[in-house]
Amino acid sequence: MNIHEYQAKELLAKFGAPVPAGFAALSVEEAVEAARKLPGPLYVVKAQIHAGGRGKGKFKELGPDARGGVRLARTLDEVEAAAKDMLGNTLVTVQTGPAGKQVNRLYVTDGVDIDKEFYLALLVDRGTGRIAIVASTEGGMDIETVAHDTPEKIHTITIDPATGIQPHHGRRVAAALGLSGDLAKQAAQVTGALYKAFLGTDASQIEINPLAIAGGKIQVLDAKVGFDGNALFRHPDLMELRDETEEDPAELEASKYDLAYIKLDGDIGCMVNGAGLAMATMDIIKLNGMFPANFLDVGGGASKEKVTAAFKIILSDPAVKGILVNIFGGIMRCDIIAEGIVAAAKEVNLSVPLVVRLEGTNVQQGKDILASSGLAIVPADDLGDAAKKIVAEVKALG
Ligand code: ADP
Ligand code: MG
Repeated sequence: MNIHEYQAKELLAKFGAPVPAGFAALSVEEAVEAARKLPGPLYVVKAQIHAGGRGKGKFKELGPDARGGVRLARTLDEVEAAAKDMLGNTLVTVQTGPAGKQVNRLYVTDGVDIDKEFYLALLVDRGTGRIAIVASTEGGMDIETVAHDTPEKIHTITIDPATGIQPHHGRRVAAALGLSGDLAKQAAQVTGALYKAFLGTDASQIEINPLAIAGGKIQVLDAKVGFDGNALFRHPDLMELRDETEEDPAELEASKYDLAYIKLDGDIGCMVNGAGLAMATMDIIKLNGMFPANFLDVGGGASKEKVTAAFKIILSDPAVKGILVNIFGGIMRCDIIAEGIVAAAKEVNLSVPLVVRLEGTNVQQGKDILASSGLAIVPADDLGDAAKKIVAEVKALG
């Protein structure tokens, strides 16, 4: 789960990270009110969407010459103008994709006089099984280019979970950023605060870009924080930070039924139980020359409710030209699953070819139920057969 910059900054400030003052705003009036509470004379109005690259982004409605989603303002009138430009409009950045994201909230924060911008991030390094600190002197808006063109400018320091963070980690971060004296101490302090926040919230990522020197102080000017979804049950307070308007509607609906669903680019909708089987199903669709429209794991006990919800979610995607159901009846018997599939197919008024492969307990009863349902369900014997059949069905439609 990701959160907005303003939420991330409030959170990190609680762990002792130095963050400039600021307030969230949902309307132009609130944005001006927020600026009034700040000391000035420089304000920054920032679009709050779950994507980076806002500074260099463009608003669809404003044309190519308009400024992006992070704007400096020197007066309350300029704050108002910036807020009017952004709210309700669609910001397109390198991270949003061409559709962009509608801006519904702003963050109005203290503008600082930047001397230097750094990059500092914490993430889980799966290779070493440790939290890794990634630091670079090349902070600002183009870290992707730095990583690509000059990877030697990016330093990685991993932390042994048995010792936790030690003073030498802070010193190494400061050295990687080319800092000495008091600024080095501040950088070490920030690193410690971010590490504490990372552990304390079960984060999956904390990215500060830029971490800046401004007015002789190290400050967090941008923050992107994501949490490990599997640990969120331990943090009801963090769950309240979820902004469902930022999530894909189909993925959101799926999460309500405890379905693991991820939208993909292909034509064949997949409904499978078990993540491994789902991966294999996607692979074999590709092997037969087409692409899956989604990953969907209905879980071990594929109940009728779940199967129906899964059908509806798959069919809500206009790209889906056919559906492949591949279910192993282990915990759940094949006859029960078949009843669920028939009921769901009737309820959603199935409009695309449907190939079903069942295997496991009571498989013959399951196949009989599908065959006598009166629906145009194409049965398949094994996974290879199922993939061939759904690809042939979809290709036959043209
Ligand atoms: P994004 O990464 O989405 O483009 P940032 O928050 O990093 O958004 O802002 C982009 C740039 O705007 C920063 O690299 C920094 O130069 C500038 N900036 C951001 N916040 C402030 C601030 N409070 N004061 C002055 N400049 C800022
Ligand atoms: Mg940034």
